[in-house]
Amino acid sequence: MLLDARSTDYIDADILGLIHDFQHKTAKARGIKLSMAGFKDKYPQIKDRIQFLDYSTRAVQSSLTPERVLEIFKEGNERFREGRHLTRDIGRLVDATSAGQFPMAVVLSCIDSRTPAELVFDLSLGDIFSARIAGNVASHKVLGSIEYSCAVAGAKMILVMGHTSCGAVNAAVDLICSNQTAAEATGCVNLDSLVIEIQQSVDLSTCKSDSAWLPGEKAAYANEVSRRNVLCTMRMITERSSTLEGLVQEGKLMLVGALYDIQTGMVSFFQTQGSSKSPLAIPTVEAV
Ligand SMILES: [Zn+2]
Repeated sequence: MLLDARSTDYIDADILGLIHDFQHKTAKARGIKLSMAGFKDKYPQIKDRIQFLDYSTRAVQSSLTPERVLEIFKEGNERFREGRHLTRDIGRLVDATSAGQFPMAVVLSCIDSRTPAELVFDLSLGDIFSARIAGNVASHKVLGSIEYSCAVAGAKMILVMGHTSCGAVNAAVDLICSNQTAAEATGCVNLDSLVIEIQQSVDLSTCKSDSAWLPGEKAAYANEVSRRNVLCTMRMITERSSTLEGLVQEGKLMLVGALYDIQTGMVSFFQTQGSSKSPLAIPTVEAV
């Protein structure tokens, strides 16, 4: 439940008493998740409390820690999987976000039609910057977008999200194993620069011909490449952007990796410990 006092002119003391009781007794007793917004300034006897995100405002963005942003993403994905998405008044959100945006995070994800970040994390207008490119690679133009999102617009977390059954990753594996370029195989003249980025995460020595894969083996192999590709993108972000690396070092920004399972809707989150210069070396990964 959201109690929103931002548009109120006056709340009677008796009503404030009821709200106070509801916040401290009834809601707790009944297991109701209660968010309070807009009380702090006009009605100091009632404290604002953000249990879930209605939409990200300047106050919300500045009060959130990177760790809390990650929690909000985890809670949102849980609601998405369980079909408990928040009911939102989109017209009100259009109006509320029209004067400015204060997104809490930037998500770098694939263009795949099954992986829109706002849906899989049960978020809405104004909540995140969404950078989408096939194979979620860190090209220079993507990095510019992420730098703006964090250093100028104040996002607290970069989430790099790959996914299972990724067409771009599958193509990168197929092409490197068959020693073909994307232009030769597809006729697409601009695809190779993107495929080459992903192929940094493919170990050429483990390639097989199409007929040599056991059933299910190739899909599992490609999913592992997707995970490595996320780790590679995370490393590229800090290696290629001193701006973002600096914010991470200062603790103002958190860099998190994730893999979305297109069969279950579940997102697994992870962070790397330490760094490795070789794209194929598997860094120590810790689930978060
Ligand atoms: Zn994809």
